[in-house]
Amino acid sequence: MSLLDQLINNTVRPDVRAIGTYHVPDASGYVKLDAMENPYLLPQQLRDELGARLAGAVLNRYPPSYASLKAAICGKLGVPAGYDVILGNGSDELISMLAMACAKQGEARRAVLLAPVPAFVMYARSAQLAGMDFVGVPLNDDFTLDLNAMLAAIEQHRPALVFLAYPNNPTGNLFAAADIERIIAALGSTGIAVVDEAYEPFAQHSFMGRLPEFPNLVVMRTVSKLGLAGIRLGYMSAAPALLEQFEKVRPPYNVNILTQAAAEFALDHLDVLNAQAALLNHARDALSAKLAALPGVTVFPSKANFLLIRVAHADDVCAKLLAHRVLVKNMSKMHAVLANCLRVSVSTPEENTLFYDAFQASLV
Ligand code: PMP
Repeated sequence: MSLLDQLINNTVRPDVRAIGTYHVPDASGYVKLDAMENPYLLPQQLRDELGARLAGAVLNRYPPSYASLKAAICGKLGVPAGYDVILGNGSDELISMLAMACAKQGEARRAVLLAPVPAFVMYARSAQLAGMDFVGVPLNDDFTLDLNAMLAAIEQHRPALVFLAYPNNPTGNLFAAADIERIIAALGSTGIAVVDEAYEPFAQHSFMGRLPEFPNLVVMRTVSKLGLAGIRLGYMSAAPALLEQFEKVRPPYNVNILTQAAAEFALDHLDVLNAQAALLNHARDALSAKLAALPGVTVFPSKANFLLIRVAHADDVCAKLLAHRVLVKNMSKMHAVLANCLRVSVSTPEENTLFYDAFQASLV
């Protein structure tokens, strides 16, 4: 064994050595429909104004305070009065922060992070990396929550954290609000429910305004799907005393000053981003109806900016789509209920047509 291999064996945790890196495929030259991005840029005039704003950013100092960005988020994005937010370098970082705060290092019983599966992959990954056990509770075949199974698993495992993506990724549906309420109640003082509203700009259903009802609720969001995936900004809110605990695990200066400036600018033009989201919602419904009319194709109902589609042979269809230079996500291997499913972002009319034509050609 080489010295470097020995070094890695002697130093890096076995469970870290055993996993793969989070793979981001090279999308250059492809129609990129694999990551639920908003395909629209800000209008040119706003991009010019943003450029001027960024040119004035003070780069030689650490970000001074997040007060003005937090105030803009709280004021414009429905955070209840008296509630604050914590900012993250994407909501990915917020997920890690929650896991880091709740993992109980060195205790006999490891803390548990529970989520319905299939779910956003970072829940299980962050749990593992933080040293929590991950418990996945299968969704029903129609992707609704199996409430009895969730309640039984909560009783059995007493999770510190339960993540519920609302709408869910990769299935695209909204779980029943009443089911989520039952889960929050069952957790009581023993666990925190995290409602992950990454796709809220499309679903327009939210638990944010209901935070005061539930002391054990965290609501997490991101600006990524709204059209700002490149700036990496997530935010979460909860009862102030709970939020104060999570603030302790936030890395100092985790949100950079360019992100801060760009986000404040974008929030001044939230109407533009919301109009893009409305456009994508219409495009989603139109594309969904067109795809569902194809023989052998099932399109699942979606409240997000992507569609989950079942075909007869997903591996084959994805390979043919790649040959057409169209990049989607093959979900087949993620979970048994996703057999022969692929996930595709909704995009501009041009790209949706391109996808539809390539998809139709890939079915034969
Ligand atoms: N939550 C869900 C449900 C997601 O689908 C995603 C991104 N795919 C995220 C969180 C992470 O978002 P961010 O870009 O803010 O890290």
